[in-house]
Amino acid sequence: MAQFPPPIRNPEVKFTKLFINNEFVDSVSGKTFPTINPTNGQKICDVSEGDKADIDKAVESAKAAFKLGSPWRRMDASKRGALLYKVAQLMERDAQYLGSLETLDNGKPYMNAFGEMMFSANMLKYYAGSADKVGGKTIPVDGDYMCYTRHEPVGICGAVIPWNYPVCMFALKLAPALACGNVIIFKPAEQTPLTALYMAALCKEAGIPAGVVNVVNGYGPTAGAAITAHPEVDKIAFTGSTEVGQIILQASGATNIKRTTLELGGKSPNVVMDDADSLYYVYNNKCAG
Ligand code: NAD
Repeated sequence: MAQFPPPIRNPEVKFTKLFINNEFVDSVSGKTFPTINPTNGQKICDVSEGDKADIDKAVESAKAAFKLGSPWRRMDASKRGALLYKVAQLMERDAQYLGSLETLDNGKPYMNAFGEMMFSANMLKYYAGSADKVGGKTIPVDGDYMCYTRHEPVGICGAVIPWNYPVCMFALKLAPALACGNVIIFKPAEQTPLTALYMAALCKEAGIPAGVVNVVNGYGPTAGAAITAHPEVDKIAFTGSTEVGQIILQASGATNIKRTTLELGGKSPNVVMDDADSLYYVYNNKCAG
């Protein structure tokens, strides 16, 4: 079995607000919601609850970051890749903490959570290397013409993600979007907001400019729906249930025609056996040992 550091028991929760324009801010309404430790039903802490007004703020911040001439738009693709690589390195530095926070908020065994961090960091590295390799084509045409294609960033991407792999889903949507020069607004699952906020802090620490990455916690029918309905959001990337995917597909065509990618449905049922507690103990014992 691979070696990894032991979990941090009761990891400190460092961020509970919304992340907009590289700052942690209260929601416009001032509302909060509790996030629960699913292993014991206890409240971990309260987190700012975003809704349409906060999504509007996030879109303004993303728009400014994406404006022609902004630091992000003027940045060389290789530098974007270097920033993504830096986020991956910061994840590796903090994988013990991030894994412990994920276990606290999501309930999965720490061994799995730690593995998710390393897998996600590797994914960021993969896309970091691809940032300066996005090329078009030259197309032979008749006559005195020059014909070629160029790949341009789409613009403001909305990412609505589920609770089962909160950091993996964050990384999987962040990395290709930023490698290609887009800006992004996340709506993490209401069950697991904490690691997305920490990931946002790592993005800032890595040097990603303000407004490029935003995280608005909240519920699906409010914050999530505000992203999918916003006329200035250009693309939606959603992972979750088929039922919500149907809602999102409809909403993403209502105010503009958003490019929409859907990763739907489940295929990973778990059978919980009588000895589940002792298995959990074995996992943790091995981590500590
Ligand atoms: P869900 O569809 O209820 O929620 C996913 C996200 O959508 C959450 O952030 C939620 O707040 C948001 N949401 C809910 N209603 C919304 C609305 N009206 N508008 C916009 N956003 C809305 O899914 P869940 O209960 O969190 O469960 C996760 C599901 O995702 C499971 O079925 C799981 O199997 C599936 N999943 C699939 C894959 C895959 O690879 N296909 C990967 C991960 C998860």
